[in-house]
Amino acid sequence: MNAALEIDLGALRRNVLRLGALAAPARYAAVVKADAYGHGLVAVARALAPDVAAFCVYRADEAAALRAAGIETPILILGPVEARELASVAHNGAALTLWSDGAFARDVARAARERGAPLGVHAKIDTGVTRLGLEPDGAAAAIASYAARPEFALRGIYTHLAAAEELESAYTNLQLDRFERALGPLQRLVAERGIVRHAAASAAAMLFPRSRFELVRAGIATYGIWPSEATRAAVRDALALEPALTWKTRLVVVRDVEAGRSIGYGCTFVTARPSRIAVVPIGYAEGLPRALSNAGCALVRGRRVPFVGRVCMNMSFLDVTDAAGAAPGDTVTLIGRDGAESIDANELAGAAGTIGYELVARLPAEVPRTYVADSSAIASRTSIVPS
Ligand SMILES: *Cc1c(COP(=O)(O)O)cnc(C)c1O
Repeated sequence: MNAALEIDLGALRRNVLRLGALAAPARYAAVVKADAYGHGLVAVARALAPDVAAFCVYRADEAAALRAAGIETPILILGPVEARELASVAHNGAALTLWSDGAFARDVARAARERGAPLGVHAKIDTGVTRLGLEPDGAAAAIASYAARPEFALRGIYTHLAAAEELESAYTNLQLDRFERALGPLQRLVAERGIVRHAAASAAAMLFPRSRFELVRAGIATYGIWPSEATRAAVRDALALEPALTWKTRLVVVRDVEAGRSIGYGCTFVTARPSRIAVVPIGYAEGLPRALSNAGCALVRGRRVPFVGRVCMNMSFLDVTDAAGAAPGDTVTLIGRDGAESIDANELAGAAGTIGYELVARLPAEVPRTYVADSSAIASRTSIVPS
């Protein structure tokens, strides 16, 4: 493999402990969908299991993968599940999300009867994302009917916020008002059954104390990536997040070329001076956004060096003219630190016109991931390659 991802499990745990302390007494559900935001589902979940109340996944097969790895922590499936997957979900004891789909609720009830035990469910209310969830007006009645069915063990009621990471407090408060109003008629049920209410993802958990309820569902912050620049600016004094992932590769070729030389497909970059152009052995098939064509930087020999020319499928180019001595074999840091310089996921993503979330979620599963217990103790570090 031409690139390597290293994940610092100690950083992950410290992020959970720090954001968890900020959000307490709310408990912490780590969101591990999209292969734990590209960090590796099973290895991340194994590391975090002692410190979290639950894991949130998107799909039923992710829940199955966690159980197959021996992880017994409660799991909530956030996304849609096919009827044919319900027997496995029941077997794995993962909780499902119920929204307005009556046919799905009937399928879940049938799976519970077949199993002879209720299935854990969380009801979702749509308060303003307009994606998944019950309309607030009819939500209390629907949820009361779920609670009354012997096939469902109603464990939670939740909503999701649209703009907390943009510090949109008016809209966030409006959504939370709608959530609380919808819950009003259910207060006794919630109290008597210990039903967990939850609304906050990472940004809201940091910024909107009233959104924390009994549980926060934190994804991006778990990995030490800020949900947005606005959240970083607002919270960085109160919360230290450590990026857990570094992404590195090596220069394969370094070429001295004259001024006026065209680099790469489409002739989109022509050297303006005698230059040293390096070939990097990864491209968009390896998760490096094609939008980094002639945009953004990587680190070589502790210097920021720009991407030039178009990012190809499996290769890309850096202008290393200003990184004195750059040579084949040199480490290229795409995300991480090299000497005094560092580039984080949001910076690299921003240069590509996207966000850290998308960049890490699209890191291909085939890129090898190495897990270190604690990067602050490099000398004694143990490498744990996930089974
Ligand atoms: C992805 C997701 C989260 C986590 O969001 P972050 O911003 O990564 O913390 C929480 N809740 C739901 C419903 C999600 O889909």
